[in-house]
Amino acid sequence: MNDTFFSASLWFSLLFTGALALSLGVKFWLASRQIRHVAQHRAAVPDAFVATISLAAHQKAADYTLAKARLGLLEVAFGAAVLLGWTLLGGLSVLNQTLIAWIGYGMGQQLALLAGFMVISGVTDLPMSWYQTFVLEQRFGFNKMTVRLWLLDLFKGSVIGAVIGLPIAALILWMMAATGNFWWLWAWLFWMGFNLLLLVIYPTLIAPLFNKFVPLEDETLKARVTALMQRCGFSAKGLFVMDGSKRSAHANAYFTGFGAAKRVVFYDTLLSRLSAPEVDAVLAHELGHFKHKHIVKRIVAMFALSLTGFALLGYLTQNAWFYAGLGVQPNLTSANDALALLLFMLAMPVFSFFIAPVFAQLSRSHEFEADTYAVRQTSANDLSTALLKLYEDNASTLTPDPLYVRFYYSHPGASERLARMQGVDAAAA
Ligand SMILES: [Zn+2]
Repeated sequence: MNDTFFSASLWFSLLFTGALALSLGVKFWLASRQIRHVAQHRAAVPDAFVATISLAAHQKAADYTLAKARLGLLEVAFGAAVLLGWTLLGGLSVLNQTLIAWIGYGMGQQLALLAGFMVISGVTDLPMSWYQTFVLEQRFGFNKMTVRLWLLDLFKGSVIGAVIGLPIAALILWMMAATGNFWWLWAWLFWMGFNLLLLVIYPTLIAPLFNKFVPLEDETLKARVTALMQRCGFSAKGLFVMDGSKRSAHANAYFTGFGAAKRVVFYDTLLSRLSAPEVDAVLAHELGHFKHKHIVKRIVAMFALSLTGFALLGYLTQNAWFYAGLGVQPNLTSANDALALLLFMLAMPVFSFFIAPVFAQLSRSHEFEADTYAVRQTSANDLSTALLKLYEDNASTLTPDPLYVRFYYSHPGASERLARMQGVDAAAA
């Protein structure tokens, strides 16, 4: 080991801890802004919503938002402690050495390292996930899960993760070892292929293991919806109702997949709350996402980002300072590929946090586009009342901190959305 090695790994440690400290500072600052802003506006319903939202509903949304933000702070602090535990405090290094002592070097050890890491992180995350479901969501009347269902979900998720994840991990480790300097390009191509496949098999094969998806049954609603879909140029086969009420009272609708696997999913909780014209308006919003090719745009962005990520990983794996700087002694006589994958997965979010607002902004602009499409196909009034019901049912605050929204929100706040919709309607009239 020479001086350059020491200085490079030390510099990298400093860069990592600096970025972690900065991201923590920003997260705490944003959360405290959100908490202050929501608390300050808790006493009265904002003027624009006085006629449509009750004070009780407004205050429930405020209390729920505050509770979530406080839990979020705890999660951020806990996550940072766990991250430091794995990296600079030597957790990953200890796990690696222990497994080498047990099973020796080789592919088996590398897979065991990945699996061991997943199991330990899964277990450390459990108390938080339990608290979120059975304390926070329960307190606000949203939780519909039983302990049995929660455990069953955990079991199914772990089995699916192992059955799909381990072979994928084995293949990537093999590529890293066998395909030379440009392994990252091959691994990227494979990863992209897998993600495209997932877009097809997730809605059709995996999601049905957790929920029931049935075609829309209500005949009058079906006739309306089919007419709307034909008008917008979609096959009516792709509309499903999901039993979201099995787990939560939160209502939602989403779009997914492409080609023949393209589908729009309505939660039963949403259908039970909306009138037929409102269902039309929400469906038109989801169709707007397809019309504007938002899935394709997301895929292209993911391709570009992950190529950058894999290229960076390809570079980092060759440098001892990458491992040492994150608290791991690299193996000198055997492959460090599993270690590199884990360190990259752990350290990357600390840096990518700073570009997250760019993607949140992109997502919000897509929501505006889908709203505009829906207003043109149906009506601004129906979409507005539908959205307000959704905001109310989900206890989403009407008064988030504007900066917090810019940083985190994938969907624009209610007042912004409603104002834009009325604008579109006025321009069309
Ligand atoms: Zn949307």
